[in-house]
Amino acid sequence: MTVQVGILGATGAVGQRFIQLLDDHPIFEIAALTASEQSAGKTYREAAKWRVNTPIPEEIATIEVGRTDPADVSDDVDLLFSSLPSSVAAEVEPAFLEEGYVMSSNSSNDRMADDVPLTIPEINPDHLGLIEVQRDNRGWDGALVKNPNCSTITMVPTLAALDEFGLDRVDVTTLQAVSGAGYSGVTSMEIIDNAIPHIGGEESKMETESRKLLGSFDGAELSMHDASVNASCNRIPTLDGHLESVFVDLADEPSPAEARQALAAYPGIDLPSAPDQLIHVFGDDEPDRPQPRLDRDRAEGMQISVGGVTPTPQGLKYNCLAHNTIRGAAGASVLNGELLVEEGWI
Ligand code: NAP
Repeated sequence: MTVQVGILGATGAVGQRFIQLLDDHPIFEIAALTASEQSAGKTYREAAKWRVNTPIPEEIATIEVGRTDPADVSDDVDLLFSSLPSSVAAEVEPAFLEEGYVMSSNSSNDRMADDVPLTIPEINPDHLGLIEVQRDNRGWDGALVKNPNCSTITMVPTLAALDEFGLDRVDVTTLQAVSGAGYSGVTSMEIIDNAIPHIGGEESKMETESRKLLGSFDGAELSMHDASVNASCNRIPTLDGHLESVFVDLADEPSPAEARQALAAYPGIDLPSAPDQLIHVFGDDEPDRPQPRLDRDRAEGMQISVGGVTPTPQGLKYNCLAHNTIRGAAGASVLNGELLVEEGWI
């Protein structure tokens, strides 16, 4: 089976990762690329300031970039991946959905809407059932599925694995890579030799999206998980890979060994882009892992790494890491696209 896909915002930091991940994909074939008016009409090679360290696939380099408008995207496209700035996506995505497109989007608009599935396939695939509610509410023939923010997706699989011990409270401090802000997000004068203890809107995204992802869906309505989640988000001068220090208060007080076992045993999912093992766990003998440079590319950038699992008077602390533009963005969206195909929504 081949599914023709389009990428909205194909020239940006996340859009380039889509191109990389979809090269030789077993199901998806790129049939349309869009970006802003400045890029429209140029070939992809001319329009994209390519920064991925594998070359642009030759058949993609010569595609003409279209405007981000349903009229510029062929009807043969079955699935759209969206990596537009959220303010643009909020205006443009509904126009595509009204035209009947199925869309797997990275942008933050609508992530917390009651009728929009916010999905990590290994964690809450059943939330896709919200598409029926969405179609009833909005009258769309299409379907909108979102993946969470890159800092949220780094932590939530670890929380899902530890929830069997009764997750009561989560405190997290992030050290986030510059690619998380896109090309124009942070200038070199701001970030080199520096750390910025504020990322606009990021903390509330982690606090709310985590509870939605871990919530339960009864077929009609979604209930948020009742754990309290508190985040402090910081930008540091790494290129890719968000590192996060997490403190969890768990009702059943597992030992570090029990927690490590639950993390390592958390099940993956059988989809083409999913890693065989979702969470890699470092033992006590490697207390300085995970690190962004060493661990972000594990399992093609799709695996979460955890280390430093240690008891505290309130519970456990540990560090986790994921590749923000792969597992945290384009890879997350591709995986949601694969789930949409697997579950028959396309
Ligand atoms: P980016 O590097 O700034 O790329 C933005 C893309 O959108 C470019 O292709 C750009 O095209 C296009 N675009 C900008 N304005 C447009 C307009 N008015 N109409 C049509 N297209 C327009 O941003 P990014 O880092 O890839 O992020 C994209 C989205 O993913 C954002 O919503 C972001 O919050 C989300 N996200 C990012 C990450 C991450 O780690 N970077 C993680 C998770 C989610 P031109 O090249 O023509 O300007």
